[in-house]
Amino acid sequence: MEDIKPITTNDTLPHPKIIAGPCSAESEEQVMESARRLSKCGIRLFRAGLWKPRTKPGGFEGVGTRGIAWLRRVKEETGMKVATEVATPRHVEEVLRAGFDMVWIGARTTANPFAMQEIADSLEGVDIPVLVKNPVSPDLELWIGALERLYNAGIRRMAAVHRGFSSLDKSIYRNRPMWGIPIELKRRIPEIEIFCDPSHIGGKRELIAPISQQAMDLGFEGLMIESHCTPDAAWSDAAQQVTPERLSEILCNTIIRDKSCEAQDLNELRSQIDKTDDELVELLAHRMKVARMIGSYKRRHNMPVLQRDRYEELLARRTDEAERLGMEREFMRTLMQAIHEESVRQQMDVLDEKCEPEKR
Ligand code: PEP
Ligand code: MN
Repeated sequence: MEDIKPITTNDTLPHPKIIAGPCSAESEEQVMESARRLSKCGIRLFRAGLWKPRTKPGGFEGVGTRGIAWLRRVKEETGMKVATEVATPRHVEEVLRAGFDMVWIGARTTANPFAMQEIADSLEGVDIPVLVKNPVSPDLELWIGALERLYNAGIRRMAAVHRGFSSLDKSIYRNRPMWGIPIELKRRIPEIEIFCDPSHIGGKRELIAPISQQAMDLGFEGLMIESHCTPDAAWSDAAQQVTPERLSEILCNTIIRDKSCEAQDLNELRSQIDKTDDELVELLAHRMKVARMIGSYKRRHNMPVLQRDRYEELLARRTDEAERLGMEREFMRTLMQAIHEESVRQQMDVLDEKCEPEKR
Protein backbone atom coordinates (compact mmCIF):
# COMPACT_ATOMS: atom_id res chain seq x y z
CA MET A 1 0.00 0.00 0.00
CA GLU A 2 2.93 2.34 -0.75
CA ASP A 3 0.80 4.95 -2.51
CA ILE A 4 -1.45 5.71 0.47
CA LYS A 5 -1.75 9.50 0.81
CA PRO A 6 -1.87 11.58 4.00
CA ILE A 7 -5.05 13.12 5.35
CA THR A 8 -5.27 16.93 5.22
CA THR A 9 -6.97 18.72 8.07
CA ASN A 10 -5.85 22.32 7.26
CA ASP A 11 -5.40 23.15 10.94
CA THR A 12 -4.11 26.56 11.81
CA LEU A 13 -2.47 24.70 14.69
CA PRO A 14 0.94 23.07 14.37
CA HIS A 15 1.04 19.28 14.23
CA PRO A 16 -0.70 17.03 15.26
CA LYS A 17 -3.61 16.94 12.85
CA ILE A 18 -6.86 17.35 14.77
CA ILE A 19 -10.40 16.12 14.22
CA ALA A 20 -12.81 17.27 16.91
CA GLY A 21 -16.51 17.49 17.60
CA PRO A 22 -19.25 15.87 19.63
CA CYS A 23 -19.71 12.13 19.91
CA SER A 24 -23.20 12.56 18.44
CA ALA A 25 -25.11 15.25 16.63
CA GLU A 26 -28.10 15.90 18.94
CA SER A 27 -29.78 19.07 17.70
CA GLU A 28 -29.01 21.83 15.24
CA GLU A 29 -28.23 24.23 18.11
CA GLN A 30 -25.82 21.81 19.83
CA VAL A 31 -24.04 21.08 16.54
CA MET A 32 -23.71 24.77 15.58
CA GLU A 33 -22.65 25.91 19.05
CA SER A 34 -19.99 23.20 19.30
CA ALA A 35 -18.76 23.91 15.77
CA ARG A 36 -18.54 27.70 16.19
CA ARG A 37 -16.55 27.40 19.40
CA LEU A 38 -14.25 24.72 17.93
CA SER A 39 -13.68 26.88 14.87
CA LYS A 40 -12.69 29.80 17.12
CA CYS A 41 -10.11 27.50 18.72
CA GLY A 42 -8.51 26.80 15.32
CA ILE A 43 -10.05 23.38 14.61
CA ARG A 44 -10.69 22.90 10.88
CA LEU A 45 -12.11 19.38 10.73
CA PHE A 46 -15.39 18.76 12.55
CA ARG A 47 -16.73 15.34 13.56
CA ALA A 48 -20.22 14.35 14.74
CA GLY A 49 -21.86 10.91 14.71
CA LEU A 50 -25.24 10.77 12.93
CA TRP A 51 -25.76 7.01 13.10
CA LYS A 52 -24.62 5.61 16.46
CA PRO A 53 -23.95 1.89 16.79
CA ARG A 54 -25.12 1.00 20.31
CA THR A 55 -24.37 -2.24 22.08
CA LYS A 56 -27.99 -2.71 23.17
CA PRO A 57 -31.29 -1.55 21.64
CA GLY A 58 -33.21 1.24 23.30
CA GLY A 59 -30.35 3.75 23.67
CA PHE A 60 -29.91 6.91 21.63
CA GLU A 61 -29.08 5.59 18.16
CA GLY A 62 -28.31 8.93 16.56
CA VAL A 63 -30.46 11.50 14.75
CA GLY A 64 -29.69 9.87 11.38
CA THR A 65 -30.44 11.56 8.07
CA ARG A 66 -32.05 14.56 9.81
CA GLY A 67 -28.60 15.72 10.99
CA ILE A 68 -27.06 15.90 7.51
CA ALA A 69 -28.39 19.43 6.98
CA TRP A 70 -26.85 20.54 10.31
CA LEU A 71 -23.37 19.40 9.25
CA ARG A 72 -23.84 21.09 5.88
CA ARG A 73 -24.61 24.28 7.78
CA VAL A 74 -21.38 23.84 9.78
CA LYS A 75 -19.48 23.70 6.47
CA GLU A 76 -21.22 26.77 5.09
CA GLU A 77 -21.03 28.95 8.19
CA THR A 78 -17.62 28.05 9.62
CA GLY A 79 -15.79 26.77 6.54
CA MET A 80 -14.78 23.69 8.53
CA LYS A 81 -14.59 20.30 6.82
CA VAL A 82 -17.06 17.76 8.16
CA ALA A 83 -16.89 14.04 8.86
CA THR A 84 -19.24 11.37 10.19
CA GLU A 85 -19.29 7.61 10.81
CA VAL A 86 -20.64 5.33 8.08
CA ALA A 87 -21.65 1.74 8.76
CA THR A 88 -23.77 0.78 5.74
CA PRO A 89 -23.80 1.52 1.97
CA ARG A 90 -26.91 3.67 2.58
CA HIS A 91 -24.97 5.89 4.98
CA VAL A 92 -22.18 6.20 2.40
CA GLU A 93 -24.64 7.15 -0.32
CA GLU A 94 -26.32 9.84 1.81
CA VAL A 95 -23.04 11.32 3.01
CA LEU A 96 -21.55 11.45 -0.51
CA ARG A 97 -24.70 13.07 -1.86
CA ALA A 98 -24.44 15.71 0.87
CA GLY A 99 -20.81 16.47 -0.04
CA PHE A 100 -19.19 15.57 3.30
CA ASP A 101 -15.39 15.82 3.29
CA MET A 102 -14.44 12.65 5.12
CA VAL A 103 -15.93 9.51 6.67
CA TRP A 104 -14.80 7.17 9.40
CA ILE A 105 -15.46 3.51 9.99
CA GLY A 106 -16.34 2.70 13.61
CA ALA A 107 -14.73 -0.02 15.72
CA ARG A 108 -17.75 -2.34 15.53
CA THR A 109 -17.84 -2.12 11.74
CA THR A 110 -14.10 -2.68 11.23
CA ALA A 111 -14.59 -5.94 13.12
CA ASN A 112 -17.13 -7.19 10.54
CA PRO A 113 -15.64 -8.24 7.17
CA PHE A 114 -19.05 -8.47 5.43
CA ALA A 115 -20.00 -4.94 6.45
CA MET A 116 -16.51 -3.69 5.51
CA GLN A 117 -16.74 -5.25 2.04
CA GLU A 118 -20.15 -3.67 1.44
CA ILE A 119 -18.84 -0.26 2.46
CA ALA A 120 -15.72 -0.69 0.31
CA ASP A 121 -17.93 -1.63 -2.68
CA SER A 122 -20.07 1.45 -2.15
CA LEU A 123 -16.92 3.63 -2.16
CA GLU A 124 -15.51 2.12 -5.37
CA GLY A 125 -14.24 4.91 -7.63
CA VAL A 126 -14.88 7.66 -5.04
CA ASP A 127 -11.97 9.84 -3.87
CA ILE A 128 -12.84 10.62 -0.26
CA PRO A 129 -10.56 10.32 2.79
CA VAL A 130 -11.50 7.41 5.07
CA LEU A 131 -10.42 6.90 8.66
CA VAL A 132 -10.53 3.34 9.93
CA LYS A 133 -10.84 2.78 13.66
CA ASN A 134 -9.31 -0.36 15.14
CA PRO A 135 -11.71 -3.28 15.69
CA VAL A 136 -13.10 -3.65 19.22
CA SER A 137 -11.01 -6.76 19.86
CA PRO A 138 -7.19 -6.64 19.77
CA ASP A 139 -6.95 -8.20 16.31
CA LEU A 140 -4.41 -6.46 14.06
CA GLU A 141 -5.24 -8.65 11.06
CA LEU A 142 -8.90 -7.54 11.10
CA TRP A 143 -7.75 -3.90 11.19
CA ILE A 144 -5.36 -4.42 8.26
CA GLY A 145 -8.04 -6.43 6.43
CA ALA A 146 -10.45 -3.50 6.63
CA LEU A 147 -7.78 -1.12 5.27
CA GLU A 148 -7.01 -3.57 2.45
CA ARG A 149 -10.67 -3.84 1.42
CA LEU A 150 -10.83 -0.04 1.08
CA TYR A 151 -7.48 0.07 -0.72
CA ASN A 152 -8.67 -2.57 -3.18
CA ALA A 153 -11.75 -0.42 -3.87
CA GLY A 154 -9.41 2.42 -4.90
CA ILE A 155 -9.37 4.48 -1.68
CA ARG A 156 -5.92 6.09 -1.25
CA ARG A 157 -6.46 8.89 1.26
CA MET A 158 -6.73 6.67 4.28
CA ALA A 159 -5.60 6.73 7.93
CA ALA A 160 -5.94 4.43 10.93
CA VAL A 161 -7.48 5.55 14.23
CA HIS A 162 -6.32 3.90 17.44
CA ARG A 163 -9.28 3.94 19.90
CA GLY A 164 -8.21 1.15 22.23
CA PHE A 165 -9.49 -2.40 22.70
CA SER A 166 -12.22 -3.76 24.92
CA SER A 167 -11.24 -6.21 27.62
CA LEU A 168 -12.93 -7.96 30.53
CA ASP A 169 -10.06 -7.10 32.84
CA LYS A 170 -10.42 -4.17 35.19
CA SER A 171 -8.39 -1.20 34.03
CA ILE A 172 -8.32 2.58 34.33
CA TYR A 173 -9.20 2.75 30.63
CA ARG A 174 -12.56 2.32 28.93
CA ASN A 175 -10.68 0.60 26.11
CA ARG A 176 -7.15 -0.57 26.84
CA PRO A 177 -4.57 1.15 24.61
CA MET A 178 -2.34 -1.91 23.96
CA TRP A 179 0.07 0.44 22.16
CA GLY A 180 2.02 -2.45 20.68
CA ILE A 181 -0.81 -3.07 18.19
CA PRO A 182 -0.82 0.37 16.45
CA ILE A 183 3.00 0.33 16.59
CA GLU A 184 2.99 -3.01 14.78
CA LEU A 185 0.46 -1.63 12.26
CA LYS A 186 2.88 1.22 11.47
CA ARG A 187 5.73 -1.25 11.09
CA ARG A 188 3.65 -3.32 8.66
CA ILE A 189 2.26 -0.30 6.72
CA PRO A 190 4.81 2.52 7.29
CA GLU A 191 3.06 4.92 4.93
CA ILE A 192 -0.20 4.97 6.89
CA GLU A 193 -0.89 7.88 9.24
CA ILE A 194 -2.11 6.95 12.71
CA PHE A 195 -4.54 9.11 14.66
CA CYS A 196 -5.17 8.46 18.34
CA ASP A 197 -8.67 8.75 19.83
CA PRO A 198 -7.93 9.40 23.53
CA SER A 199 -11.65 9.97 24.25
CA HIS A 200 -12.66 6.36 23.58
CA ILE A 201 -9.45 4.93 25.07
CA GLY A 202 -9.79 6.88 28.33
CA GLY A 203 -13.57 7.03 28.70
CA LYS A 204 -13.14 9.99 31.07
CA ARG A 205 -12.06 13.52 30.35
CA GLU A 206 -9.11 13.56 32.80
CA LEU A 207 -7.36 10.92 30.71
CA ILE A 208 -7.48 12.83 27.42
CA ALA A 209 -4.37 14.94 28.08
CA PRO A 210 -2.04 12.13 29.24
CA ILE A 211 -3.16 9.74 26.48
CA SER A 212 -2.74 12.45 23.82
CA GLN A 213 0.78 13.08 25.12
CA GLN A 214 1.61 9.38 24.95
CA ALA A 215 0.37 9.28 21.35
CA MET A 216 2.56 12.26 20.46
CA ASP A 217 5.54 10.68 22.20
CA LEU A 218 5.03 7.63 19.99
CA GLY A 219 5.03 9.84 16.88
CA PHE A 220 1.36 9.45 15.92
CA GLU A 221 0.28 11.92 13.25
CA GLY A 222 -3.03 13.12 14.66
CA LEU A 223 -5.75 13.10 17.29
CA MET A 224 -9.51 12.56 17.09
CA ILE A 225 -11.06 14.08 20.22
CA GLU A 226 -14.69 14.33 21.28
CA SER A 227 -15.70 17.89 22.14
CA HIS A 228 -19.19 19.14 23.02
CA CYS A 229 -20.55 22.59 23.89
CA THR A 230 -22.05 21.24 27.16
CA PRO A 231 -20.30 17.89 27.79
CA ASP A 232 -22.21 16.92 30.94
CA ALA A 233 -25.48 17.15 29.06
CA ALA A 234 -24.30 15.01 26.11
CA TRP A 235 -26.66 12.25 24.95
CA SER A 236 -23.77 9.81 24.45
CA ASP A 237 -20.28 9.46 25.98
CA ALA A 238 -20.81 12.42 28.33
CA ALA A 239 -17.98 11.48 30.73
CA GLN A 240 -15.31 11.59 28.03
CA GLN A 241 -16.22 14.83 26.23
CA VAL A 242 -14.59 18.23 26.84
CA THR A 243 -15.60 21.76 25.92
CA PRO A 244 -13.88 23.31 22.88
CA GLU A 245 -12.01 25.68 25.23
CA ARG A 246 -10.70 22.80 27.37
CA LEU A 247 -9.70 20.97 24.20
CA SER A 248 -7.72 23.99 23.10
CA GLU A 249 -5.97 24.09 26.48
CA ILE A 250 -5.11 20.39 26.27
CA LEU A 251 -3.66 20.84 22.78
CA CYS A 252 -1.58 23.85 23.85
CA ASN A 253 -0.10 21.88 26.74
CA THR A 254 0.66 18.79 24.65
CA ILE A 255 4.31 18.67 23.72
CA ILE A 256 4.80 17.84 20.08
CA ARG A 257 8.08 16.03 19.62
CA ASP A 258 10.47 17.15 16.91
CA LYS A 259 10.45 14.27 14.48
CA SER A 260 13.47 15.60 12.61
CA CYS A 261 15.63 15.31 15.72
CA GLU A 262 17.53 12.06 16.08
CA ALA A 263 16.84 11.79 19.81
CA GLN A 264 13.18 11.42 18.85
CA ASP A 265 13.86 7.79 18.01
CA LEU A 266 15.10 7.33 21.56
CA ASN A 267 12.03 9.00 23.07
CA GLU A 268 9.76 6.77 21.03
CA LEU A 269 11.63 3.67 22.14
CA ARG A 270 11.46 4.77 25.77
CA SER A 271 7.75 5.37 25.44
CA GLN A 272 7.37 1.88 24.05
CA ILE A 273 9.23 0.56 27.10
CA ASP A 274 6.92 2.53 29.41
CA LYS A 275 3.81 1.23 27.65
CA THR A 276 5.11 -2.32 27.81
CA ASP A 277 5.79 -1.92 31.53
CA ASP A 278 2.23 -0.57 32.02
CA GLU A 279 0.93 -3.70 30.36
CA LEU A 280 3.25 -5.96 32.36
CA VAL A 281 1.95 -4.53 35.63
CA GLU A 282 -1.66 -4.94 34.52
CA LEU A 283 -1.00 -8.52 33.43
CA LEU A 284 0.65 -9.32 36.76
CA ALA A 285 -2.33 -7.88 38.63
CA HIS A 286 -4.60 -10.13 36.56
CA ARG A 287 -2.41 -13.16 37.31
CA MET A 288 -2.66 -12.42 41.03
CA LYS A 289 -6.45 -12.17 40.78
CA VAL A 290 -6.54 -15.64 39.24
CA ALA A 291 -4.18 -16.89 41.96
CA ARG A 292 -6.65 -15.71 44.60
CA MET A 293 -9.47 -17.55 42.81
CA ILE A 294 -7.31 -20.70 42.82
CA GLY A 295 -6.66 -20.07 46.52
CA SER A 296 -10.35 -20.14 47.36
CA TYR A 297 -10.91 -23.22 45.16
CA LYS A 298 -8.15 -25.05 47.02
CA ARG A 299 -9.61 -24.04 50.32
CA ARG A 300 -13.10 -25.25 49.38
CA HIS A 301 -11.62 -28.61 48.35
CA ASN A 302 -9.30 -28.81 51.33
CA MET A 303 -6.17 -28.83 49.14
CA PRO A 304 -2.72 -27.53 50.15
CA VAL A 305 -1.63 -24.25 48.56
CA LEU A 306 1.58 -25.63 47.09
CA GLN A 307 1.66 -28.40 44.46
CA ARG A 308 5.36 -28.99 43.88
CA ASP A 309 4.98 -30.83 40.51
CA ARG A 310 2.93 -28.03 39.05
CA TYR A 311 5.54 -25.46 40.15
CA GLU A 312 8.46 -27.46 38.66
CA GLU A 313 6.60 -27.90 35.39
CA LEU A 314 5.83 -24.19 35.20
CA LEU A 315 9.47 -23.23 35.85
CA ALA A 316 10.80 -25.68 33.25
CA ARG A 317 8.34 -24.55 30.58
CA ARG A 318 9.03 -20.84 31.02
CA THR A 319 12.83 -21.15 31.21
CA ASP A 320 12.84 -23.20 27.97
CA GLU A 321 10.60 -20.64 26.32
CA ALA A 322 12.81 -17.74 27.51
CA GLU A 323 15.89 -19.38 26.02
CA ARG A 324 14.13 -19.91 22.70
CA LEU A 325 13.26 -16.18 22.70
CA GLY A 326 16.84 -15.07 23.37
CA MET A 327 16.76 -14.52 27.14
CA GLU A 328 18.88 -16.08 29.89
CA ARG A 329 17.34 -19.14 31.57
CA GLU A 330 18.51 -17.82 34.93
CA PHE A 331 16.77 -14.49 34.41
CA MET A 332 13.46 -16.24 33.75
CA ARG A 333 13.93 -18.59 36.71
CA THR A 334 14.46 -15.63 39.07
CA LEU A 335 11.50 -13.76 37.61
CA MET A 336 9.14 -16.75 37.80
CA GLN A 337 10.27 -17.47 41.35
CA ALA A 338 9.39 -13.92 42.40
CA ILE A 339 6.01 -14.10 40.66
CA HIS A 340 5.27 -17.50 42.16
CA GLU A 341 6.22 -16.30 45.64
CA GLU A 342 3.74 -13.41 45.41
CA SER A 343 1.08 -15.77 43.99
CA VAL A 344 1.48 -18.10 46.97
CA ARG A 345 1.28 -15.13 49.34
CA GLN A 346 -1.98 -14.02 47.65
CA GLN A 347 -3.43 -17.54 47.94
CA MET A 348 -2.51 -17.70 51.64
CA ASP A 349 -4.16 -14.33 52.07
CA VAL A 350 -7.41 -15.77 50.75
CA LEU A 351 -7.13 -18.65 53.21
CA ASP A 352 -6.62 -16.22 56.09
CA GLU A 353 -9.60 -14.12 55.03
CA LYS A 354 -11.91 -17.10 54.80
CA CYS A 355 -10.65 -18.56 58.09
CA GLU A 356 -11.32 -15.44 60.06
CA PRO A 357 -15.02 -16.01 60.94
CA GLU A 358 -14.21 -19.52 62.14
CA LYS A 359 -11.43 -18.19 64.37
CA ARG A 360 -13.80 -15.90 66.21
C1 PEP B 1 -17.36 7.44 18.02
O1 PEP B 1 -16.33 7.89 17.49
O2 PEP B 1 -18.24 8.14 18.56
C2 PEP B 1 -17.51 5.97 18.14
C3 PEP B 1 -18.69 5.39 18.22
O3 PEP B 1 -16.34 5.38 18.20
P1 PEP B 1 -15.90 3.82 18.22
O4 PEP B 1 -16.32 3.25 16.91
O5 PEP B 1 -14.41 3.98 18.34
O6 PEP B 1 -16.52 3.19 19.42
MN1 MN C 1 -18.34 8.46 21.22
